Amino acid sequence: MKVKKVKKVHKQGMLDNVMRQFNHAADIIGLNKNIRKILEVTNNELVVHFPVRMDSGEVEIFTGYRVQHNNALGPYKGGLRYHPTVDIDAARALAMWMTWKTSLAGLPYGGAKGGIELDPKKYSTAELERITRRFTYALGDNIGPELDIPAPDVNTNAQTMAWILDTYMSTKSPNERSKNLHVVTGKPTGSGGSQGRDRATGYGVFLTIKFWAAHKGLDLTGKTFIVQGFGNVGYWAAHFLEKEGAKLVAVQDASGTLYNEDGMAADELLAYAQANNGNVEGFAQGAPMANEDFFGLECDICIPAALGNQITALKAPHIKAKVIAEGANGPTDVEAEKILLERGVDIIPDILCNAGGVIGSYFEWLQNRNGELWQMDEILQKLEKKMRESYDKVQHTALEQNLDMRTAAFVIAIERLEQAYTQRGIFP
Ligand code: NAD
Repeated sequence: MKVKKVKKVHKQGMLDNVMRQFNHAADIIGLNKNIRKILEVTNNELVVHFPVRMDSGEVEIFTGYRVQHNNALGPYKGGLRYHPTVDIDAARALAMWMTWKTSLAGLPYGGAKGGIELDPKKYSTAELERITRRFTYALGDNIGPELDIPAPDVNTNAQTMAWILDTYMSTKSPNERSKNLHVVTGKPTGSGGSQGRDRATGYGVFLTIKFWAAHKGLDLTGKTFIVQGFGNVGYWAAHFLEKEGAKLVAVQDASGTLYNEDGMAADELLAYAQANNGNVEGFAQGAPMANEDFFGLECDICIPAALGNQITALKAPHIKAKVIAEGANGPTDVEAEKILLERGVDIIPDILCNAGGVIGSYFEWLQNRNGELWQMDEILQKLEKKMRESYDKVQHTALEQNLDMRTAAFVIAIERLEQAYTQRGIFP
């Protein structure tokens, strides 16, 4: 019998990426094989199916996830994403990146991630509120202020966190309720949120670009940048870069791609997008262009701030930017990274570049826990100090051990966890 040969198409997913990144760094440090076994797997995985009544009166069933990768360094921490691509492997990958990120940042947290598989654009605000509340109810006591603390991610925001907080508190006894403000971070400031948490991730992205430029002896004034994703991270990164004199020449979001070699005003674009269902499409300062040409545009700085696996081996040879600052989690796949590094393109890795978000969350959590309210200036200063420490550590390790920045960041993160496991041993 003739066997038909099927051409194997290797679709590289985020989980594959994070595992390869981890194993590469673990090999370099000669990570203890038993600790490697622990870190390779997630601690807990929760999949919930829950019914929600739609505005039409019909009931729809949704699937939500919460994956808790590791809590050796402290409570699980990580965002909730509402997107059609959310599945168990995406949640596993993103949870693992959170473990490395919190470890690298020196925070007393572990890593988790989750979300709901849905396209929020298809639902009314009232439906999204009911979906969020029912999801929170389904998660029950698998989240908690000292156990697992969610935060915003793609298509979730301060409002989503306020609904989660209210639902979580409502299910507790009256005496317990107000002790739970820090069950989520990224809340509105009127509901226990912190000054500066909204801009923390984008500000951190900007800071890492500033540190990188200083190291290269470059001035950001007049430098051009492109941003994929004009949501929380993309907008704030653009805002701060523009204030420093850099020029936003292209932007891409789920609605399309815009280009203007003379630059577009980030704040005006935000106001336009807010009035246009979150979309940049149609903004008069930019000319529409083909989505597939975005990453190949002439620019100095490229900021992926949308989804994972956007920069692939097909796109990497065409990238003109001198540096890729990963606002998104997992935007560059392993094959693309090899090509970029060979071509001399620097990559500020996600677990360093976008850590401002979880650092800002940590500040919010501390304030809630201690009944304190910190001022914006103080928070941004503390954030800068922490980002600077992490950046310097990564750069030092990269130079000292002749590693790329991602591998250096992973080495630092994994060594901190290795130390904790070595000191404590394994129960029983
Ligand atoms: P967001 O929902 O505020 O914005 C997402 C943006 O991505 C939107 O502009 C959307 O249109 C765009 N987008 C979606 N699909 C796209 C596609 N196929 N092509 C181009 N653009 C697309 O989300 P966010 O909070 O800004 O998160 C963006 C990224 O940053 C994610 O990878 C997230 O994990 C990461 N991140 C977020 C935070 C945070 O604090 N929010 C912290 C660290 C990392």
